Amino acid sequence: MKPEDLLRPTPEGLYCPPGGFFIDPVRPVERALVTHGHADHARPGNQKVMATRQTLDIMALRYGEDFASERQVAELGEKQRIGDVTVSFHPAGHVLGSAQIAVEWQGLRIVASGDYKRRADPTCAGFEPVPCDVFITEATFALPVFRHPPTAEEVDKLLVSLKHFPERAHLVGAYALGKAQRVIKHLREAGYDRPIYIHGALKKLCDYYQSEGVDLGELRPATVEGGKKGDFAGAVIVGPPSAFADKWARRFPDPVASFASGWMRVRQRARQRGVELPLIISDHSDWDELTETIGDLSPQELWVTHGREEALVRWCELRQMRARPLHLVGYEDEAE
Ligand SMILES: [Zn+2]
Repeated sequence: MKPEDLLRPTPEGLYCPPGGFFIDPVRPVERALVTHGHADHARPGNQKVMATRQTLDIMALRYGEDFASERQVAELGEKQRIGDVTVSFHPAGHVLGSAQIAVEWQGLRIVASGDYKRRADPTCAGFEPVPCDVFITEATFALPVFRHPPTAEEVDKLLVSLKHFPERAHLVGAYALGKAQRVIKHLREAGYDRPIYIHGALKKLCDYYQSEGVDLGELRPATVEGGKKGDFAGAVIVGPPSAFADKWARRFPDPVASFASGWMRVRQRARQRGVELPLIISDHSDWDELTETIGDLSPQELWVTHGREEALVRWCELRQMRARPLHLVGYEDEAE
């Protein structure tokens, strides 16, 4: 038996023939197992969806209650049968509700980790290594040049800037699911206790995080109706990166444009986006986290997907570990 008999890449996504399901399908299918709520992994229109309760909640928030005709909750660590296959979900440390999916059949275990990171994130459960024969890893930042600095250092850059420019609004671009809440939570942990203003596009997910016990402190809508421009002097305003290109951003006084992303390691990207204060904060593993994870698990075989596959495959080959790129399509850097 080959691992490909248990899971194989198809145009719809990773397919499990003996279980009759797909993992994070990019096209609507009959049965989907979903690792987490980011739009490139969790899409609407599947018949049956199995995911953690939080991921199912997040899909309902984003797509409406009818995002699937049937939902099945996966409790973390609990084994469930689908056809001849046993599946279980384990924390991935990526965003609230994110999980790796372990698939077992005839003594073979493959873990599809979805997106993951190893460093501490106060807004979600930490990554749990699951021993396996084949580990499927993401490769978003799979180049040795990508090393994310300690998160507290990056958050401190923002606090220092607030101190130096008390009259300027600080606009922090952060993706709506995960990154925005994480930046806010890290600010709170660093002792920042003033109200934080959020773009309307973040409200539902911030409310959801708070309802799940992630205390984000006082959040206020970043609307100027009824207020003056000067009200936002020295304030932190968090919004989706896309909002900073439009009229919405021009309402704030002499804004400092900031962006929280692993891509901020690349100076050119920061410049292109007109980012004055780049914050290297990522929900994906950097090169060290990827190679440490592979070292910890030392699977018989590594499958590499969405990102820079070649460097990681080469890294494994140098260590006599079998590795191959999966060439799955349809996964983007959206989550970054
Ligand atoms: Zn993601």
